Amino acid sequence: MNGPARYRVVEHDTVLTFGWELRGRGDDVELVGAGHCPVCGCPMTVTYGYYQPIVPKGGFLGRRHEPTSSIWYTRCRCEGLHMPRPANVPDGCGAGLRLARPQDAAGIGG
Ligand SMILES: [Zn+2]
Ligand SMILES: [Zn+2]
Repeated sequence: MNGPARYRVVEHDTVLTFGWELRGRGDDVELVGAGHCPVCGCPMTVTYGYYQPIVPKGGFLGRRHEPTSSIWYTRCRCEGLHMPRPANVPDGCGAGLRLARPQDAAGIGG
């Protein structure tokens, strides 16, 4: 590696399998996925609420592009320093990542 990758908005097509774990208890449970961003190579975690607001057309806000899709979507959330990162982006290298949903990867989630 020649230092951190530059920040760049790029969509990564490969569906990634992250390791998922449920954290919390009762009504306050989150799904936490951990893996490596394939674009910048940094470790990253992504957190989703276990319970998602249902949108009128079906499906869930926030983690799917298409309500019917089984692919979840996130941007890279690594803690690497990737510049020039816009001030309104708190973390990551700019990559858009596709994740196999937890029940496919680990038998949990919804
Ligand atoms: Zn990244
Ligand atoms: Zn990174």
